[in-house]
Amino acid sequence: MQASDKLITTKKELCRVCYTCVRDCPAKAIRISSGQAEVIQSRCIGCGNCVLVCSQNAKQYYSSIDEVNATLLSGVRTAAIIAPSFPADYPDLDYQQLCGMVRGLGFDIVSEVSFGADLVAQAYKKLVAKHDENRFIATTCPAVVSFVEKYHPELVSSLAPVASPMVVMGRVLKRIHGDDLRIVFIGPCFAKKSEITRSGEDCVIDSALTFKELNQMLDSTGINSANVQKSNFDPPLPGLGSLFPISGGMLQAGDMTEDLLTADVVCADGKSNFTHALKEFENGSLDAKLLEVLCCQGCIMGPGMSNDLPYFSRRTAVSKYARERLKSVDPDIMQNQYDTFSDIDTGNTYRPDDKRLALPSPVDLQNIMKRMGKVNDEDELDCGACGYATCREHAIAIHKGLAENEMCLPNTIDRLKKSLTDLNISNDKLSKTQVALINAEKLAGMGQLSAGIAHEINNPLGVILLNSQLMLDECKPDDDNFEDISLIVEQAERCKTIVSGLLNFARKNEVNLEIVNISALIDRCLKTIILPKNIRVIVEHKIQNPQVEIDEGQMIQVLTNLFKNAIEAMQDGGELHLKTHDKGRYFKIIVSDTGTGIPEKVKKKIFEPLFTTKKVGKGTGLGLAVAYGIIKMHRGKIDVQSNADPEKGKTGTKFSVTLPKC
Ligand code: ADP
Ligand code: MG
Repeated sequence: MQASDKLITTKKELCRVCYTCVRDCPAKAIRISSGQAEVIQSRCIGCGNCVLVCSQNAKQYYSSIDEVNATLLSGVRTAAIIAPSFPADYPDLDYQQLCGMVRGLGFDIVSEVSFGADLVAQAYKKLVAKHDENRFIATTCPAVVSFVEKYHPELVSSLAPVASPMVVMGRVLKRIHGDDLRIVFIGPCFAKKSEITRSGEDCVIDSALTFKELNQMLDSTGINSANVQKSNFDPPLPGLGSLFPISGGMLQAGDMTEDLLTADVVCADGKSNFTHALKEFENGSLDAKLLEVLCCQGCIMGPGMSNDLPYFSRRTAVSKYARERLKSVDPDIMQNQYDTFSDIDTGNTYRPDDKRLALPSPVDLQNIMKRMGKVNDEDELDCGACGYATCREHAIAIHKGLAENEMCLPNTIDRLKKSLTDLNISNDKLSKTQVALINAEKLAGMGQLSAGIAHEINNPLGVILLNSQLMLDECKPDDDNFEDISLIVEQAERCKTIVSGLLNFARKNEVNLEIVNISALIDRCLKTIILPKNIRVIVEHKIQNPQVEIDEGQMIQVLTNLFKNAIEAMQDGGELHLKTHDKGRYFKIIVSDTGTGIPEKVKKKIFEPLFTTKKVGKGTGLGLAVAYGIIKMHRGKIDVQSNADPEKGKTGTKFSVTLPKC
């Protein structure tokens, strides 16, 4: 496997899908698919931003350690070339100590890339000095080169035809030590790993290690500054090329200036600056002869650096090293080196590798936005939580297959809220059903019990009733026993009513459905009731077609029980209101009164058999239980609304019976 095949990958188990990598990827090379962040290798420019910003360490980059170890073990002469940013990574080490440690790993030659940088700086100087119309983008940063090749292919012809300092230094060492020499680059950059494969035959570098990987190799072999011999870098030794890793360092090394008046040379570094600078360069608003663009804030801030030093500390370390090294370099030797390698090839060619994706049509865009819940202008919050700066950019990324609707946080929160409400509603329904189920079970149990008792009592009660009736018939009204026997008959009659009520309640038999005119039935029922004078009755038949399928006998029981209860609740008079109306496949009978109302505590129990609030001898507590059973058998329902508190308004009760028409 090569670095370019899988330079950066995601450890799925660590990824918390926070979209930070999406936000910080200048190439938009991270696809969110099924809620997972995945690096699209062909779009990746290797800048390493995603690795740096991932707080979960879910992004990992290709390790070159194994291939470098294999090279070192192969016995072929191998050189390490160290990037000029090393003083920023090892500020506490003397350069001779670092050089000795790298040699300790088995490298035959240890040199600085900075000499290559010196030659590259001269090549740029010549390029800028030419008095022609050409405008160039510097090619010192491999991530920038890759970005131009993939996302600004029209600008590839403007890429300076100059190789990177790493490649030029490789060519220098091959000139000195022969073509068999293997060369390993050590530096702060991930993109170098793909540069060495992308450059193909032009590239003379075998592997690229980061400083982090170098440290791992040193740790695993137990090499440290205390147990190695100090040594000097192998020639050729650099001049101002040591300043390359600082933004603008290349200009100083090449004796060029970023002149604000002529604006011949412009520097831009960092993720957003470099992308803006390239856009402006492309549309002509940035009219520089040379645009030096670096993806990081200079190589000293590269993702392969192993320490946490802040920017200016790193910068200071590099300039201090360059200053001290320059003091020790003999200008004659320096000049001699330049003369020796003045004919070295510093050129390179770059090829377009267009990875731009088609934009959606306005209609497609609108449809995607709709699916994201963005219908009006005010829906476009541009909050950036999805990793895209605007909702439109997010929608475009969805069209390109890089993003998903679910990444829109405000929309997801809205949908979650709705689901929560739906869930609460279902929960509510569920608990109501549960209560109803418990009630039904309780009623069924009581039904069985009461049926058993009623059966047992029915026969002896018949005997008592028959005999007491006979005795009463034979007794004269002035007889001493007349009153007592009358009481026995009366109470036995009462027992009979209760027993037949119990039997009704426990009735298991089915309903005998027949077509009945419900309005007429209600009117008939009303006539059989003894209505006190102080109660006014209002009847409203709003039902369109009163012909409904019910068990007439059972429905009479329901209505009579409801009417009686209403009348009994209006001892001081009031209004009994009866209403029928249609409700789709159902019809409704509403019985309301202006009586005492039912207190909340009582309301819970009214359908329980034998529950009554009436005086002994007055209520049986079976009326509503029987009505409930009958209505259930008719596949209908009975609801009650009531107010027993005069402070809350008019007292009264309303029973609503809903039944299927057939
Ligand atoms: P009963 O009428 O024999 O008491 P029911 O089963 O018919 O038995 O009614 C149970 C209880 O429900 C009553 O005792 C009463 O407390 C209450 N109730 C029923 N209907 C009404 C109503 N319309 N107004 C006030 N309370 C009522
Ligand atoms: Mg009753």
